[in-house]
Amino acid sequence: MKSNCPYYLASRESKKENTVIQVGDVSFGDGSFVYIAGPCAVESQEQIMEIARQVKEAGAGVLRGGAFKPRTSPYDFQGLGASGLRLLAEAARAFNIPSVSEIVDARDLGLYAEIDILQVGARNMQNYSLLKSLGEQKKPVLLKRAMSASYSEWLTSAEYIISSGNPNVILCERGIRMPGPELRNTLDLAAIPYIHRLSHLPIIVDPSHGTGDSGLVAPLSKAAAAAMADGLMIEVHDNPQEALSDGMQSIDCTEFRNLKTQVDKILEVL
Ligand code: PEP
Ligand code: MN
Repeated sequence: MKSNCPYYLASRESKKENTVIQVGDVSFGDGSFVYIAGPCAVESQEQIMEIARQVKEAGAGVLRGGAFKPRTSPYDFQGLGASGLRLLAEAARAFNIPSVSEIVDARDLGLYAEIDILQVGARNMQNYSLLKSLGEQKKPVLLKRAMSASYSEWLTSAEYIISSGNPNVILCERGIRMPGPELRNTLDLAAIPYIHRLSHLPIIVDPSHGTGDSGLVAPLSKAAAAAMADGLMIEVHDNPQEALSDGMQSIDCTEFRNLKTQVDKILEVL
């Protein structure tokens, strides 16, 4: 570590120019805007194939889908595990779109051979042994902010990955705890310009977990684009009412298409 900054390698101090992370045809951090879309969890082959088809057609650049789900309750759907990853990879291949899925245990790394981006969830942002393991491999890591993490704690988690050998870290703001029952989280949009100031890493926004409310996803997506985020991660389901996880915050494929049209207009103005 140089200087007194605990996240020196992640800081603007160490590197002035933005880090650009290329995945398939899309790039994070080069001034373009990446849409990551897909279900909270892969539920079946039909479900992920249908959603992949629709979001790709609508212009998504990356397909998401959880297979190992860190659910708050042990009685909730935990994901399809290894077979969920296989279904996600198959759908991504079928529609020629890169994929992202959350990894919760470094021992599972071998199962992610066909997945392009490894996601670290909010609950694991400070799982330092997981972060070190992801730093010792080459795939880009999507690092979500923990529920109550400060910017420096978040960037110091990125530092674990970078200092272990992997510079390809994409930050994802997904909301922090709020004092009240109305919304699941408070989406901290100040994080976008502030992280751009502190760090050269790309930052995207997840308004789905950030609010927990499908009706708020489009307006906050527009706000995130206006605040110069490098992209969005949106939970999209072909039938949100029947989703096995996070249906309340999931939008359907038509809503995703409309959202993208609106956000693209904001991007044009900028
Ligand atoms: C997710 O993206 O599916 C997820 C579990 O998000 P978070 O870690 O932000 O809660
Ligand atoms: Mn979810």
